[in-house]
Amino acid sequence: MKVFTAFLLTCALSTVHADIAPAEQTDVLPNARLATPPSPPPGFIPPPLNPRGIELETRQLSDGAYARMSNTPFADNAGFIVGEDAVLVIDSHFNGEMGQQIIDAVRAVTDLPIRYLLNTNAFGDHVFGNHVFPEDTRIIAHQGTIDSLSISTVEGIAQTMRGTVNGDLSVFDGVKLRLPDVGFDTVWSVDLGDRVVEMHWFGPGMSPHDSVVYLPKEKIAWTANLLFGADTIPWARSGGVADYRATLRKMADTISPNTIVSGHGRIASGKAIHRYVSYLDDILEQAKQAALSNTTGDDFSANAIIDPKYVIEPELETLMTGFHRWNLQAAYRESR
Ligand SMILES: [Zn+2]
Repeated sequence: MKVFTAFLLTCALSTVHADIAPAEQTDVLPNARLATPPSPPPGFIPPPLNPRGIELETRQLSDGAYARMSNTPFADNAGFIVGEDAVLVIDSHFNGEMGQQIIDAVRAVTDLPIRYLLNTNAFGDHVFGNHVFPEDTRIIAHQGTIDSLSISTVEGIAQTMRGTVNGDLSVFDGVKLRLPDVGFDTVWSVDLGDRVVEMHWFGPGMSPHDSVVYLPKEKIAWTANLLFGADTIPWARSGGVADYRATLRKMADTISPNTIVSGHGRIASGKAIHRYVSYLDDILEQAKQAALSNTTGDDFSANAIIDPKYVIEPELETLMTGFHRWNLQAAYRESR
């Protein structure tokens, strides 16, 4: 009987927070440092994330699955999932006002409690609306994200995100840093009542602990910063291009989404994962060749443009070109 009870307890715990383990301390940086490009290449512009005037539009993707899409090309998207018993929200957006927009959208669809809020990374534009969610909403994130936020302050982050909001620091007014309650390591899952939701960490990508939310039955993924929307390329923000590729390969081996809702950009098909892997393959190979032919890093990256075989969303061309040059710098460093 004792063994049986212990087994049941283990099962119950693993449903709520599986594989909890502390992240490696070496990966943990304060959010402020995550948001500050150390050495931007020529032509690089910070991602335009100013939430002022942003209206999130609700799009129903399947029964119980909703995207919240920004009305500008790159400001944050979010989402929510409704089961028979409860609601789960994906990312709380930039500040209290934006977080409230998400809560209001949930309330337009259902009265069920918002029992879970998932934070996909430690950047302010994904977590700064946390504080307006109900007190009994449990916030879930990768343990590394929690560690990063625990050594951050709103003021520090606001200063370093200045470039993404056209210097308008008033968008951070009223923000209180509310830390997630539950950390996970590789996978967390919950059943909201006839609707299972998974959250995965496949490895480092744009930042060290980018997490992906997945509906296995409906085959819909929320990829946040790991995979931007349709007609984009990745941004190897943290520098590990080969690691980023390995992470995306693991994602492709583990889940098979038909629909991808990114944290930034338009809704994409599942094929976007393979496009990202192919792009990273290409630049790693090009960097290797450049290093072998004694091309300098600057000559390799400073004026580079994206191979036209990767069609780019026209409104994002300048931003993506900056990301591309950044990626080339990183790939070149790795090839040496
Ligand atoms: Zn983001």
